[in-house]
Amino acid sequence: MSEVQTAAQLVEFEGLHNQELLARYNNSLMGVFGTPQRVLVRGTGCTVWDADGKEYLDLLGGIAVNALGHADPFLTGIVSSQLATLGHVSNFFTSPTQIGLAEKLLELAQAPSGSRVFFANSGTEANEAAFKLARRNAGTAQTPRTRIIALEGAFHGRTMGALALTAKQAYREPFEPLPGGVEHLPFGDPDALREAVDDTVAAVVLEPIQGEVGVRPLPPGYLKAAREITREAGALLILDEVQSGAGRTGNWFAFQGEVAGGEQIVPDAVTLAKGLGGGFPIGALITFGDEVSGLLAAGQHGTTFGGNPVATAAALATLHSLEARGLLQHAADVGAWLRGRLASVPGVVEVRGEGLLIGFDLDADFPAGIAPQVVQAALEAGFIINAPGPRTLRLAPPLILTRDQAARFLDALPALITTAAAAAGKDMP
Ligand SMILES: *Cc1c(COP(=O)(O)O)cnc(C)c1O
Repeated sequence: MSEVQTAAQLVEFEGLHNQELLARYNNSLMGVFGTPQRVLVRGTGCTVWDADGKEYLDLLGGIAVNALGHADPFLTGIVSSQLATLGHVSNFFTSPTQIGLAEKLLELAQAPSGSRVFFANSGTEANEAAFKLARRNAGTAQTPRTRIIALEGAFHGRTMGALALTAKQAYREPFEPLPGGVEHLPFGDPDALREAVDDTVAAVVLEPIQGEVGVRPLPPGYLKAAREITREAGALLILDEVQSGAGRTGNWFAFQGEVAGGEQIVPDAVTLAKGLGGGFPIGALITFGDEVSGLLAAGQHGTTFGGNPVATAAALATLHSLEARGLLQHAADVGAWLRGRLASVPGVVEVRGEGLLIGFDLDADFPAGIAPQVVQAALEAGFIINAPGPRTLRLAPPLILTRDQAARFLDALPALITTAAAAAGKDMP
């Protein structure tokens, strides 16, 4: 098998730079993402390098994915040794890591006895499973439960079922008709929820902290109200923690933290993905209690790859590392400090989030489109951040981010905003 030892050698990209590679990208990859910003070639910790050799501080973590940063030695070791032992078995078989991860997730979710886990490969797939679970809460022949409630601003993924739960018209419209019965209610309005939910509703699907709309936590009391309303009506309470889960907020799950206002909330189902595998693709649906866990019967759902030995080993390694290194507390501390400092940066008007899931808005006097300009200026200056809205920025860095690293960004931010404002043809408001 020749001298080839790395994947990079297989594509003979050595010596090529961002520009040539992106031209090749545009000639070979589907255009759904537009042209990516850079070609990244390696990383370590919170740092990545592009094909031109330029270094970046990664404050986005692959969108809340790289919890342990890049090329974490422990995760790399566990994944490599698992792949070298047994990589894939199909779901005619199971593996110790699959069982172990299911047990671990149930423990971290403080799930009651009878609770169960289904493994998928992504966030949208975890939500597809949740959608099918909701359909099985079918009601009776006289009163079928045909409705599913989601919220305005919700993002639940891009496959057809998850897309039906997603609110954004621009994502939905080109693909209609979508699976039916989904209604979107005003964000954070418990009265609207109370009014909508009755015995025709199969499930209410919520992100405790909406991520894609710019990191927007449910208002105080909403989650508790949603739990009471759904329990009363016999509807499932399904929490999409694809972005907020797996330690990102300083708790294993956001529903265990601030957004629940110190209440002990037991949902009916929770979905996870993004940070769970530390960069290795894996998704999960956790169902709480035996009644809900029995809704999907043998043969009613499946996946070829879901929960394979490598993916579940990656997730076990990630969770173990987060726990053993105290990274939840670290994320909570660094996140609180960072949010506090962000709030006093000129031009920043609102800071939201929990732990290291952070969104902030720039002054409304800036022209719309300022946020993408800040992202651009940040990239030039060696920082990876993201603009989920025209005046909104998001940070979801590796949970190992240090205060010093965060401080580097904070020191640079005022000038980035000024540069972006100038590019947009406007002075600081
Ligand atoms: C990213 C995300 C998804 C979709 O996850 P994919 O892995 O991209 O399919 C679903 N829900 C939420 C809340 C997300 O942030």
